[in-house]
Amino acid sequence: MTTLYKTTKTATAIIIALGILSGCAASPQDKASNEESSKLTTDSQSANETSNKNVNNKKPDKEEHPAAGTETNNGTENAGSNKDTPTSDNKEAAVKKLYRINKVYRFEPISKETSNKVVLLTFDDGPKEDKMISGLLDTLDKHKAKAIFFVNGYRVKKHPELLKKIADRGQTIGNHSWDHIDLKKETAAVVQKQVDDVQTLVKETIGTAPLFFRPPFGSGGDTVKEIVKKDGMLFMTWSNGSLDWDKSTKNKPDLVIKNVLDQLHPGANILMHELPWTVEALDTLLTKLEQKGYGFIDPATIDVEPSQPKSAK
Ligand SMILES: [Zn+2]
Repeated sequence: MTTLYKTTKTATAIIIALGILSGCAASPQDKASNEESSKLTTDSQSANETSNKNVNNKKPDKEEHPAAGTETNNGTENAGSNKDTPTSDNKEAAVKKLYRINKVYRFEPISKETSNKVVLLTFDDGPKEDKMISGLLDTLDKHKAKAIFFVNGYRVKKHPELLKKIADRGQTIGNHSWDHIDLKKETAAVVQKQVDDVQTLVKETIGTAPLFFRPPFGSGGDTVKEIVKKDGMLFMTWSNGSLDWDKSTKNKPDLVIKNVLDQLHPGANILMHELPWTVEALDTLLTKLEQKGYGFIDPATIDVEPSQPKSAK
């Protein structure tokens, strides 16, 4: 960790510069988020240094690697990988698709009549505990909000009943890999297994396989993207990191709220986690978002095959 922080500290300066250039806010609160995103940008260095040796099955919650600067990196990365081979396997076909994701993982209305003042709520790294899951679900219900819970296979295996609870309460399950490892550093075969084992287990548990995929640490290269696409899922990182995983925000629900609001933009893809202070923050956060005129995207209305009309066939 020390190594990672040192590395990311150096990279932060670069990222802040990039952030400014790409128009993303580089306020003090974004420091950590920039550090996180530097993980993305300098992935080959810092990620390698993290080494997945300390990413074992027991404590992967380490943190997500969010944030504001994702634009720079993801935009570039994505630009070259647009050959479409989606598997048409859309279980939500009955629901009208209202939103599609763009290259920087924000959501845009498909039709002009649909409001762009919306956010997607996501909670990663569960399911861990009934108490936290129930807290999140109750608050989502109170606000009639939907979210994606990006789960890890090894946790689902331990708590299939929690996965069922999330699904039974009408929320959406996303695939976050089996072990929460840095997939970018793995072979295609390992990635395939990390992804497919979750698809299989979730399908066995709740009857349907996830349609959304988010790589741990936001770290996914072309191999990961291709595999995810072949599996019929939509790949995403995020565009608004709550920093709830960062130690600066630990036990500080108010800061979770502030971080999200500071980075708020139409179509924001908000990264949060199953963590006690996030559970505590959620009610106020959703209230504040509503006060600002924002609605919550129902994942069922997201087009999982966003045909970036490049060479539409
Ligand atoms: Zn994660």
